[in-house]
Amino acid sequence: MIYPHEHLAVDLSGPKCDIDCRLDRKDAVVAEFRGLRDRGVTLVVDLTNRGMGRDVAYAREVQEKSGVRVLHATGWYKEGFFPPEVYESDVGRLESIMRDETEAGIDGAVRASVIGEIGTELDRITPEEERVFIAASRVQAETAAPIVTHATMGRMGMEQIDLLEAHGADLSRVTISHVDLTNDLEYILRLIDRGVTVGFDTIGKTAYLDDAHRVRMLKELSRRGRCGSVVLSMDITRRSHLKERGGVGYAHLIDDFLPRLRVSDDTAAVPEEHIRLMTRDNAARLLGVF
Ligand SMILES: [Zn+2]
Repeated sequence: MIYPHEHLAVDLSGPKCDIDCRLDRKDAVVAEFRGLRDRGVTLVVDLTNRGMGRDVAYAREVQEKSGVRVLHATGWYKEGFFPPEVYESDVGRLESIMRDETEAGIDGAVRASVIGEIGTELDRITPEEERVFIAASRVQAETAAPIVTHATMGRMGMEQIDLLEAHGADLSRVTISHVDLTNDLEYILRLIDRGVTVGFDTIGKTAYLDDAHRVRMLKELSRRGRCGSVVLSMDITRRSHLKERGGVGYAHLIDDFLPRLRVSDDTAAVPEEHIRLMTRDNAARLLGVF
């Protein structure tokens, strides 16, 4: 299995004024990742990028101690979380920073495999966010790296697609994240029709949306034969999401969520081949790992 949208270390505590948003519990993350490995997870994508508290050495240590492979990301998150370099750089400079991290490596070390998560505000795209998206499209055209977006509350997906497409991105290598939070299946189907993959990647974040809605939408996507365009993940970002703090933990997707897809009640169960697409094959195709 692959978890394509996670964070091993992330620090959004400054802008959010909440120390809970500094995920820095390495030993606890290692322990949970060992549990993931025992459940068949082989690969996790760490989408923490520039300005989010990215810590590649920490992520490498989690990989070594847990046996779960970790891939790294480049790019910038969204307005309110951008470091000064975003405001000081034109598109060309942003492009060259991401290209360097993708081709030469982060700090000259391990390469970034993914451009993401790059985001937009709730119902608008700021000029800085637009520059990041344009630069990301150009880097993808040169390197073929997959792009993963952050759609705040799942919204603005169509506008993100328009922007990426206009600047040369390959939509078959783009994932629009957090669309589950809209609880709007018709919107999600319209995104899929544009050729992107959509992320149901806030599984377990029941303060935003009860998992029952995710189950209902995924069963309907399965019934319509659209699971080839969906990936599943949890987007763990807070100390309180971890097991040791009473949170659901990274294994919630496997232990609690997938069993609900496999249940046949008033709606049919999701067949195993569809679950395999959403938990492994689609992400493997996007990442170019098999
Ligand atoms: Zn995320």
